Amino acid sequence: MNKTNTLYEGKAKIVYETDEPDKLIVYFKDDATAGNGEKKGTIQNKGIINNEMSAFFFKLLKDHEIKSHFIDKLSDREMVVQKLNMIALEVIVRNVAAGSLAKRLGLPEGTPLKTPVLEYCYKNDELGDPLLNRYHIMVLDLASVNELDEIEHISFCVNQVMINLLKAKNIRLIDFKLEFGRDEKGGIVLADEISPDNCRFWDMTTNEKLDKDRFRRDLGGVEEAYQEILKRVTA
Ligand code: ADP
Ligand code: UDP
Repeated sequence: MNKTNTLYEGKAKIVYETDEPDKLIVYFKDDATAGNGEKKGTIQNKGIINNEMSAFFFKLLKDHEIKSHFIDKLSDREMVVQKLNMIALEVIVRNVAAGSLAKRLGLPEGTPLKTPVLEYCYKNDELGDPLLNRYHIMVLDLASVNELDEIEHISFCVNQVMINLLKAKNIRLIDFKLEFGRDEKGGIVLADEISPDNCRFWDMTTNEKLDKDRFRRDLGGVEEAYQEILKRVTA
């Protein structure tokens, strides 16, 4: 399989079209941004780690009959995926209060949530990815009610599979962000990545942060945390 042209270059990945029209190659970069692009930097080897961890989680989900766009890992920074029409939503699932939810609801970071919370944000950099509810999604014509039902069902299944795996590795899954697209028949498929860039992982004993918050909040030890979480997740 060969790359043909660049379909899209985002903040963390480059998406290439290939000589197979229904397949894309995703290249994972070391570039890191936070605060809607206000903070920029690089995290050495992040692309390699995020590619490997995403491949690991997508395979784990497949074992649990949750399909995703993942087809194969091509190289240390590249994976082959199914080409989808992306839905401009960020789907966030939370088990523990952190980040913007902790601020919005006035809950101390680390407060366990009685039930997992699912939130939608509009994937729109100009607007700063605002929080949306189902009514906003209808008005913007981003997805149908049936599609949202399916997205929510898949998202909570992903949460359960990940919680179970991570518990055995002494890691708390605080929250994460998923993206979905439509295949050629209009079916909903999980896409993008599952990595320390879009998940919060805390050590269960020490609450040490092993994710992108180390970069966002200038906590130091960023590269080490990415290496450590990859090692523990895939061990
Ligand atoms: P951003 O757009 O937030 O800067 P990235 O740098 O991660 O993000 O770019 C990757 C882009 O590829 C995202 O816009 C994402 O929605 C898109 N994408 C992910 N998976 C697929 C797929 N299977 N088909 C088409 N586009 C995808
Ligand atoms: N997240 C993400 N991309 C975004 C916003 C959030 O991957 O553009 C992830 C983030 O890594 C965390 C979860 O979604 O795991 C919830 O993030 P939150 O809204 O608390 O973000 P904050 O504003 O604190 O970064």
